[in-house]
Amino acid sequence: MIRALYPGTFDPMHNGHIDIAQRAAAIFDEVVIGVYDAPPKKLLFNTEERVGLVRLALSHLQNCSIVSFEGLTVECARSIDAQVIVRGLRNVADFEFESQIGLANRQMAPDIELCCLLSSTEYIYLSSTIVKEVAGLDGDISAWVRPEIGVAIQQRFAENRPDTPQAGSVNNKSVTKTRGKLTHHG
Ligand code: ADP
Repeated sequence: MIRALYPGTFDPMHNGHIDIAQRAAAIFDEVVIGVYDAPPKKLLFNTEERVGLVRLALSHLQNCSIVSFEGLTVECARSIDAQVIVRGLRNVADFEFESQIGLANRQMAPDIELCCLLSSTEYIYLSSTIVKEVAGLDGDISAWVRPEIGVAIQQRFAENRPDTPQAGSVNNKSVTKTRGKLTHHG
């Protein structure tokens, strides 16, 4: 019986994450999604919400369960008796990051193996950051996330959005510029 931990921030879970979870679930007897409680990142969803969205996204996988964790990933793996940590690789930057963390993890926990799955080509450019940036600019994210997750993202942006300033005001211009930092190239 091999249990694998697939850890991440999942803020929120997108189709690239789902693809990795599905493929891991086909390889291992059990896959536990570990939702990292306190990553050094600004989050759109709190831990409980991210766990709920992962649950929605993976309800079709019988051998998948979800935990949230804080602290070291290897300690989380130990606490659930996982022999393997699964991560997804999109590009060279992911490889460099994962190989460094993976070697540090092996030093701390030589009994836990790392399994990196290459991203499927259709998701290679996809990240939670891109999903949030595009959604924040009212772009279409339906190809990237499950419909329920798309609705949750849109609701969160609607809650966070300040009242629309008067058209043509100085404020209005600066809001537009700030919100377009990643996806607006004009
Ligand atoms: P992190 O765990 O680094 O905070 P994420 O929660 O976004 O970041 O990602 C969790 C895991 O899923 C990481 O291994 C990451 O490389 C992988 N991943 C993220 N996006 C994709 C994608 N589009 N295709 C395959 N794997 C991905």
